[in-house]
Amino acid sequence: MRFAVVGCAHGELDAIYATVEESERTTGKKVDAVLCCGDFQAVRNLDDLQCMAVPDKYKRMNSFYRYYSGEKKAKWLTIFVGGNHEAINHLWELYYGGWVAHNIYFLGFAGVVNLGGLRIAGLSGIYHERDYRMGHFEFQDRQLHRGLRSSYHVRQTDVFRLLQIKRPVDIFLSHDWPKRVQDHGNRDQLLREKPFFRKDMETGRLGNPALEDILHTLKPAHWFAAHLHVKFAAKVKHPNNGTCHRCTKFLALDKPIPGRDFLQIVELPSTEDNALKYDAEWLSILCTFHDQLNLQRRPLPLPRTGADCEQKMADNLERARRLLDQHGEEIPLNFSATVPVYEHGRGPRRGDVPASIGRNPQTVQFLSLLGLDYNLALNEPRTNRHNPEEIELGEDEEDVPANGRQPTARNPEEIDLGSEGDSG
Ligand code: 5GP
Ligand code: MN
Repeated sequence: MRFAVVGCAHGELDAIYATVEESERTTGKKVDAVLCCGDFQAVRNLDDLQCMAVPDKYKRMNSFYRYYSGEKKAKWLTIFVGGNHEAINHLWELYYGGWVAHNIYFLGFAGVVNLGGLRIAGLSGIYHERDYRMGHFEFQDRQLHRGLRSSYHVRQTDVFRLLQIKRPVDIFLSHDWPKRVQDHGNRDQLLREKPFFRKDMETGRLGNPALEDILHTLKPAHWFAAHLHVKFAAKVKHPNNGTCHRCTKFLALDKPIPGRDFLQIVELPSTEDNALKYDAEWLSILCTFHDQLNLQRRPLPLPRTGADCEQKMADNLERARRLLDQHGEEIPLNFSATVPVYEHGRGPRRGDVPASIGRNPQTVQFLSLLGLDYNLALNEPRTNRHNPEEIELGEDEEDVPANGRQPTARNPEEIDLGSEGDSG
């Protein structure tokens, strides 16, 4: 199976697909799917644009809305996780994952899917210690208070679910990097390209500690990431019983700017057809910890693990397998637009009312397949109203390509990811 892996998308879908097209033309080999590591910017209309935390100069409609409206169709199945610049109101509708347009699938705030017999897992967002233990308080009452960068910060509740995965994962997608992953690659070269990382590296502030935990627990065969806007490869060896090693091949990619390393072709052996399928183990985890999702702005106690929990997981796994036997494993192609799409030529609108977040029929269908209560999960009544003024809106470095250019990645075939995992 040939994947085109992309770093940040920054809404440049046309440019990314043009590069995939060019790769197919020059190599004569078809790409089966595109994987994108965040800052995707699935902006459907001007309301969404107001919900995306970027400086005003970067508030551009770009090309996604034409895919949302159906005017354009993604030729390749595209799977993405969220980053720290997203129309987060749109992504929250699809907390458990779903289609944002025909053939374009959001993996969810955390998620696992199967494609061609490969398990693809991912986590959306970036790390910020302040918010890590909070619930998803930004979405209480299905309303998003604009300008809340905190909504992009990863939560322990989602990380906890990923850490319960026992079966091998082939590919992990994240936006920021696992903490310390740079120590497993050419650190000096990285510092030559990005000297301003040195201080954060030395003080242990570069990268995401939750992802570091996931990396060493799940030991996925491949890991793709973005956010730091540089191509960087590493090979992480996981000690196992002191004798044999499993290995994660890490690759971070740049953002879509002409001549930069934002796209990489990666070929992995597949064992099944290319339909996108649910993952039974992940469904069992969602069922087991369904009532643990919290929309409060306070630290959450983690669910108790242990024998009872293991038994519940095993029962839920059996139930998930039965459900998939009955209903089919394939993720239904049930995309439908839920908001009015952008009309060409309308200028940016500045608004200050919170955007309401719709009940996405895909999420309703998904939860009802699993027999889970929608209200319990995503529509918890507000009990702890937060004060939007109280939140520090830290400035991220903004660094987005100019509109209208058609970037082509430098040498998408070039990198050698080494041989399959070591053992011995
Ligand atoms: P974004 O496109 O998400 O706004 O910002 C990404 C930019 O911020 C990149 O240029 C990246 O180099 C920089 N950046 C992101 N995280 C860190 C960090 O932890 N330390 C440093 N020094 N720069 C970072
Ligand atoms: Mn980013």
